[in-house]
Amino acid sequence: MPVLPDLPRISVQETKMLRAAFVLALFFSAGLLLPLQVKTQTKTQTKTQTTNMSQNQIPSVPAEWLTHAEKTDYRETPRYAETIEYSKRLDQASPLIKFQTFGKSGEGRDLPLLIATEGDTFRPEAARRAGKAVILIQACIHAGEPDGKDAGLALLRDIAITKTRPGLLKNLVVLFIPIYNTDGHERVSPYNRINQNGPAEMGWRTTSSYQNLNRDYMKADTPETRAWLALWNRWKPDLFVDCHVTDGADYQYNITYQHEHHAGIAESVLAWEKKVIDERVAPATEAAGNLVSWYLEFIDNRDLTKGIQDFNGSPRFSTGYTPIRNRPGILIETHMLKPYRPRVIGTYDFLRFTLAEVSRDPQSLLAAVREADEKTLADGHTYDPARRFPVDFELTDKATPYKLKALEYHTELSDISGAPYVTFGTKPVDMTVPMYNEFRVKTAVAPPLYYIVPVQWKDVIEVLRTHGLTMQTTTEPIVIDVESYRFVDVKWAGSPFEGRLMPSFKAEVVHERRTFPARSVIVPLAQESAKVAMNLLEPEAPDSLVHWGFFNATFEEKEYAENYVLEKLAREMLAGDPRLREEFEKKLASDANFASNPRARLQFFYQRSPYWDKQMNLYPVGRIVAPLAAPLKQP
Ligand SMILES: [Zn+2]
Repeated sequence: MPVLPDLPRISVQETKMLRAAFVLALFFSAGLLLPLQVKTQTKTQTKTQTTNMSQNQIPSVPAEWLTHAEKTDYRETPRYAETIEYSKRLDQASPLIKFQTFGKSGEGRDLPLLIATEGDTFRPEAARRAGKAVILIQACIHAGEPDGKDAGLALLRDIAITKTRPGLLKNLVVLFIPIYNTDGHERVSPYNRINQNGPAEMGWRTTSSYQNLNRDYMKADTPETRAWLALWNRWKPDLFVDCHVTDGADYQYNITYQHEHHAGIAESVLAWEKKVIDERVAPATEAAGNLVSWYLEFIDNRDLTKGIQDFNGSPRFSTGYTPIRNRPGILIETHMLKPYRPRVIGTYDFLRFTLAEVSRDPQSLLAAVREADEKTLADGHTYDPARRFPVDFELTDKATPYKLKALEYHTELSDISGAPYVTFGTKPVDMTVPMYNEFRVKTAVAPPLYYIVPVQWKDVIEVLRTHGLTMQTTTEPIVIDVESYRFVDVKWAGSPFEGRLMPSFKAEVVHERRTFPARSVIVPLAQESAKVAMNLLEPEAPDSLVHWGFFNATFEEKEYAENYVLEKLAREMLAGDPRLREEFEKKLASDANFASNPRARLQFFYQRSPYWDKQMNLYPVGRIVAPLAAPLKQP
């Protein structure tokens, strides 16, 4: 996730040498356990990185069923066409697997989906009827990080073809997206991931329209996100896993993982994640020969003793989004500096133990998500101004000791950057460092009973619809008392983010009677996705549609007063209002910028006159906190 400096680039040539070392290691390994010895070479240094990992081999596989990664000893990852072909072969060869597509990319590629289950539960309704848990596993949202694709294909093969991983589909439906960012996946180069150690070539982080899909979950700008949301709304999976590769410091672990754990997560969902993922899946993955850690983002890569700073992914991230749909979202981040093989096998192990745990006990997952849905639904039926739903969080300075499996490192002053830089060595060093992982609520709101969105904000309504929110449409204009917000201190970011110019502001509550035109949209919070509605429509939520720029035009002054007109108006206003004169003179005396800006001095009067546009900086969306009497028409 973070962009890291200070790492030597590994060229294609060097990666080839590394692979050669790996093939040799394979030859010399006997039996099922392979001592992991990784050789990383650069033009200026040779370092041998030895860890105490000894991952279990993936069980033996007939030649025709080897994945591309396995056939090349994890030097390479397959392209889109080959991945689709392998996926279709799995479908043709096994009744346990079906290949489908769930939409089209920007360039028109089919978005592939493999469904794995026993019996006839290949449709959501059938899966629900059978009481099966549905797990959505996703790879290549960042197409330069293909570990999950090669791990998932091997795992489905071992479940369905070689049957060397029996029992993993019991009580389950697995939805596997081998390549989510298909267009980025085909922008192939050895140079797409400067920090990453293989495979030889990989795809690109964003779509071909330069959208990072892992920031698009709320604003849903891309056809990929819209297709994903449709898939999610259709299946309503019970668990989500997203497969990535880190950036960041060097350390011993080959695989790290994370899930959100702030106060916005349903208690039952968080309890399940702790009990099953933290206490069972992660230790089982480690027992299979991996080194597993919670996701590691260091405060300073040059001084690991300063500690680890946890992050909370807002709902723009996949694993920040599924929790506001009341579903666990598990982030896997393999370590970029480890070669491809231990990264893929680490992902394979984490995934298979996740399936094993949910297969063994689907009920605890199903109960956790059901409890969260029921609570959300029940809360939505009543308005309580004292009840608060948190939408934004910040880390506290409270730390707990974390036993870190680090590597020795030293820093020296760079004559290139002029700043100290870090060099990581190969010797394992165990150290205890502070882990800052406690969040406090920064912003919380009292959930209303409904939001009302005026019909003319069509892009906003379209996004709400894409998220599958239940909405009602008014048949005629309605006049209604609402709470809303007036924005003050509006500031603009210096550059666009994900193609959008994001404002920052303070939101002041206003109470008004407003008229909403016919076909305006009412969003009740008595629905399972109420947290999505609040995160989109409460302006102060970090991924609100206000923050994403959907309402930017409301921050613009649209009518202009001529200076000579304002001169006359100002004189008339001053003559009739001694308090206004006092206020004006005080501002002249206390604010030098104001005093030296002729236009600002005239604008002072315009803004206090009846000519000023009262709707500028006013949020068009209303919060309704009293029950609505009249029945409303469904769209
Ligand atoms: Zn990633």
